[in-house]
Amino acid sequence: MERYQLFIDGKFCDAESGETRPTVNPGNEEPIALVPVAGKGDTRRAIEAARRSFDEGTWAGMSPKDRAAKLMKVFQILKDKEADIAELESKDGGSTIRKTTMMDAPVGIEHFRLLVELGGSLPTYEPLPWVDFPFVSWNFVNREPIGVCAGIIPWNFPFMMAVWKTAPALIMGNSIVLKPASDTPLTALELAKAIAEADLPPGVFNIVTGSGSVVGPELCTNPMVDKVALTGSTETGRNVMRMASDTVKKVTLELGGKSPTLVLEDADLDIAVDGALFGTFFHAGQVCESGTRCIVPASIYDKFMAKMVERIGHIKIGDPQDFETTMGPVVSKTQLDTVTGYIDIGLKEGANLVCGGRRPTHMEKGFFVEPTIFDGVRNDMRIAQEEIFGPVLSVIRYDEVDEAIRMANDSIYGLGGAVFSRDVPRAIDLAKRIRTGTVWINDYHLLNALAPFGGYKQSGVGRELGPHGLLEYTQVKHIHVDLTADRSKKFWYNYIFND
Ligand code: NAP
Ligand code: MG
Repeated sequence: MERYQLFIDGKFCDAESGETRPTVNPGNEEPIALVPVAGKGDTRRAIEAARRSFDEGTWAGMSPKDRAAKLMKVFQILKDKEADIAELESKDGGSTIRKTTMMDAPVGIEHFRLLVELGGSLPTYEPLPWVDFPFVSWNFVNREPIGVCAGIIPWNFPFMMAVWKTAPALIMGNSIVLKPASDTPLTALELAKAIAEADLPPGVFNIVTGSGSVVGPELCTNPMVDKVALTGSTETGRNVMRMASDTVKKVTLELGGKSPTLVLEDADLDIAVDGALFGTFFHAGQVCESGTRCIVPASIYDKFMAKMVERIGHIKIGDPQDFETTMGPVVSKTQLDTVTGYIDIGLKEGANLVCGGRRPTHMEKGFFVEPTIFDGVRNDMRIAQEEIFGPVLSVIRYDEVDEAIRMANDSIYGLGGAVFSRDVPRAIDLAKRIRTGTVWINDYHLLNALAPFGGYKQSGVGRELGPHGLLEYTQVKHIHVDLTADRSKKFWYNYIFND
């Protein structure tokens, strides 16, 4: 079994305690590799290395173009390892090999390239309006890195999330300490190997695997850390924000969701039904922007539901390493218990179980649950308000579109959502009324490395991806150059001198 190591200050090493932990394949519950369990001391060493490397300024002081050139070497190494990353991602997190081959590995690696190229091309000099009255001055903004960033990531898209934290932090000139989720550290550790091979200055990139409750608080409270970027649950987000507040760290938080899929009467039903199913059941529902509340007009309700039940039969649940499988297990026993717990809650709340709700009978091992649909759901039920993070869809009926929008927005979350309609201008108007960070029209889940992604309300703070996301890894410095040559004409001259 492969035994992975931490990467601190340019060197691979074990945890100080020597402790390791196996990671498990959720498809068959078999261990696949050993990973160090880092403690507070290891985390502190990683933070100190990141601090020292940032303060020395080798990386931060390079031109964005030179940093991009170094990082493109990482991209090339990742590209050569694409098939291995896809396989490892599937084994570690239970994603289908279909998904990791078509998405996690190639798209994650492509996002690395796109973020590096975009970040490398953003100007560090931003002109401000010329000031010539009453005193002539030249003003501009200098974009600077923030310093030491901590990246804390979840288990649902482990490789992609490692890329989304690492590429922006590094291209904008920061140092980073990355903490993967305990259940899925392996592909982030492969990213560390690629970075080691590309020979970045020591301390610029560090990775610490260990428990969120030990490594997390150190990253969020250590005064040497300037920024924390978390993708995780809203509960962890609140915690991180609270811990980071003592030293007033910058935070970006990508948190939970309960996103609405709004179907209009004039929607192409084939596209709307498949889109709603994809929006919910992709990666067994373990996606933060999943469209877990499908809001359907009464006038087409029966037709829509009949088609949905027919189409759900085309989702093939099974061994995630089999290319024919389109839906795998959830990530862990804990997550499986959460999901089945919510199915019980839905039944107790009086929602109608249309299909699913059990363990698939043909899977003896692994953390599997059938794709599950409830209808007759009211938006105030717990299954419509709380994030389940599993393959459970709540269908809600509406009569008037204003009522549908009210329900769509009646949530503490605001991450994603969709409108399905043939009338695109109307769909755009409605998309503007949905209070979430992304709305797809006649589509779902497609994230674009050049477009901002993030949450309204309790779905998060700040944005990732695109120029908006990259600039979250910079500080804005105003530089004012006074051009008045004559001392007596300086603006301050008469304030404290009385000559
Ligand atoms: P989680 O429990 O919040 O964990 C996320 C990360 O935070 C993990 O690395 C975890 O470490 C760490 N962590 C746990 N406790 C911590 C603490 N006290 N201080 C600092 N870090 C701590 O979330 P999850 O269960 O892994 O992921 C599922 C959740 O993430 C869902 O709610 C989902 O909506 C959200 N999510 C959001 C997005 C988005 O972009 N908005 C994307 C993906 C997922 P351990 O693994 O060691 O516990
Ligand atoms: Mg695992």
